[in-house]
Amino acid sequence: MSIRNVTHCILRITGVSKGFARHFSLHKLPEDHLMLQKTCRDFAEVELKPIAAELDREHKFPAEQIKKMGELGLLAVNVSEKYGGVGQDTLALAVAVEEIARGCGGTGTIVSVHNCLYVNLLDRCGTDEQKETFLRPFTSGTLGCFALSEPDAGSDVGAMSCIAVEDGDSYILNGTKSWVTSGTEGKAAVIFATVDKSLKHRGITGFIVPLPTEGLSLGKKEDKLGIRASPTCNLILEDVRVPKQNILGTVGGGFKMAMEQLDRARVGIAAQALGIGQAALEVAVNYAAQRKAFGKPINQLQAVKMRLAEMALRLESARLLVWRAAVCCDEPQRSTKESSMAKLAASEAATFISHSAIQILGGMGYVTDMPAERHYRDARITEIYAGVNDVQRTLIGDLIVKEYE
Ligand SMILES: Cc1cc2nc3c(=O)[nH]c(=O)nc-3n(C[C@H](O)[C@H](O)[C@H](O)COP(=O)(O)OP(=O)(O)OC[C@H]3O[C@@H](n4cnc5c(N)ncnc54)[C@H](O)[C@@H]3O)c2cc1C
Repeated sequence: MSIRNVTHCILRITGVSKGFARHFSLHKLPEDHLMLQKTCRDFAEVELKPIAAELDREHKFPAEQIKKMGELGLLAVNVSEKYGGVGQDTLALAVAVEEIARGCGGTGTIVSVHNCLYVNLLDRCGTDEQKETFLRPFTSGTLGCFALSEPDAGSDVGAMSCIAVEDGDSYILNGTKSWVTSGTEGKAAVIFATVDKSLKHRGITGFIVPLPTEGLSLGKKEDKLGIRASPTCNLILEDVRVPKQNILGTVGGGFKMAMEQLDRARVGIAAQALGIGQAALEVAVNYAAQRKAFGKPINQLQAVKMRLAEMALRLESARLLVWRAAVCCDEPQRSTKESSMAKLAASEAATFISHSAIQILGGMGYVTDMPAERHYRDARITEIYAGVNDVQRTLIGDLIVKEYE
C-alpha cells in the first residue's frame, strides 16, 4: 500500500466519533492519532527537513511537497468527507501541523492557515453550492487564503476600510488586504470587507473570491524574518465584482464568523509553534551530547541540564494546552479561552526554546550551518499572527474576570 493509501486510511480511521473528545486522556494520544503522528513525522523527516534550509534561504514555496500533502489528505484534515476532506477532529489537525512544522516551520504556516482559515471555514459556514465550487477542489493540493487584516486594521479589525458596495446581484469591493498567507499561490480567498464602515464590526462581511479575478492584483511578496517558505502578500482590490452567492455566512456576520474561526486557527498556530519548539529542542539535546567542554560533553554541565529541563518543561506544558484546546474546539461552545491560552503558551515556549537552543550551541547557534537560528526566526511569528499575544492576554483576562464574577 502506498503512503498515500496508508495515510488516507489513517486519517480516515482516526476520525473516530465526536465522542472521542470526551474519552480523550490528556497525557497520551489515542492509538489512531499516534499512527497519524508517525505518518506525518516520517513525511516531514523525508520530504521537508532536508530542504527546509534551502526553502528558507531562497524564500521558496514548497510546491512539490504541498502537492504530496494534498494527496495524503493533509490539506483537508478536519473537513467533512462529503466534500473531499478526511473528516478528522481538530486534535488530528494539531498533531499533523506540529509534525509538519517540526520538519519546516514555513510549510507549517501554509498547512495550518489553509486548513484552519480556509477549508475548515468553508466547511463550517459555506452553502452546498459554495462548498462544491470553493471547498471540494481545495482539499487535495490547491490552496485557499484568508484575508482579514489591512494596513490600518490588524488587531483592531473593526477599523476595516475595505468597502463592499451593493450593485444589483453583486457587491463591488475596493480596498487593500494585507499579510495574506499564500496570496501568491492561492486559487481563492475569503476576503472580509465592510458594507457600511459606520456600523464597525456589524458591517463586516465575508466574500469568497476566486484568484485571479478581474480588478484584484497582488502586492509585492513580503521579505520576512522567518517562515520564508510561506509566501505573504497584499491583495489590492479595485472594483472587484463579487456575486451575492459568494457571500460567506450573512451580510454583517463576518466579524463573528472570523472570530469564531480564529479560535480554531489559534490551535493551528499553537501546533505550529510546538513543532518549531520541538525541532529546536532536538537540535540542542543532540548538540549538547556531542559537544565537549572541560573534558566532558556539555550535557553533563548542570547549567546546560537546567536549560534543557526548562525548555522541555515549557514545551510539554504547552502541548497539553494545545491538545486541550483542540478537543474544546470540537465542542459546541466557543473555545476562546482555551485556544488563546494554547496559542500564548506554545508561541512563547517556541521563542524561549529556540532562543535557548542557540545559547546551547554557542557560536554554532548563530550561523546557518545549523538550523537553530532558523528555528529562532521561524518561532517569532507565532507570537504575532492569528492575533498578537497581547491581545490573547486581554481576551483571557476578560474571560477570567467574567468567570469569577
Ligand atoms: C507573516 C504573516 C502572515 C500573516 N497572515 C495573515 C493572513 O493569512 N490573513 C490575515 O488576515 N492576516 C494575516 N497576518 C496579519 C496578522 O494577523 C497581524 O499582523 C496581527 O493580527 C497583528 O496586526 P498588526 O500587524 O496590524 O499589529 P497591530 O494591531 O498594529 O499591533 C501592534 C502592537 O500593538 C499592541 N496592541 C495592539 N492592539 C492591542 C490590544 N488590543 N491590546 C494590547 N496590545 C495591543 C501589541 O503590542 C501589538 O503587538 C499575517 C501577518 C504576518 C506577519
